[in-house]
Amino acid sequence: MAAGLGSVEEVLAGSLVEQTRRCGKAGCRCADGEGHGPYVYFGPRPRGRGRSRYVPSGLVEVVRRCLQRGEQVETVLAEISAINTELLARRELE
Ligand SMILES: [Zn+2]
Repeated sequence: MAAGLGSVEEVLAGSLVEQTRRCGKAGCRCADGEGHGPYVYFGPRPRGRGRSRYVPSGLVEVVRRCLQRGEQVETVLAEISAINTELLARRELE
């Protein structure tokens, strides 16, 4: 059953968001125009897990891959739980 899970350590739960930032320097183009960036941030889920973290561009693909794995693992766990719920109903849960 656990064979469908693959590597369960390369997972992240949350989302990636792009944000622009104003540096605050006087006369910088960002003061009244577009901010710098966009920069990528990772917002962990559930929200209580802490603040958003800056994601360097070299790590964006890694984070994307871990988010995808996280969703796959959650889906598989939900399926296993549903099967076990059925087994419980039949008194076959071990
Ligand atoms: Zn600026």
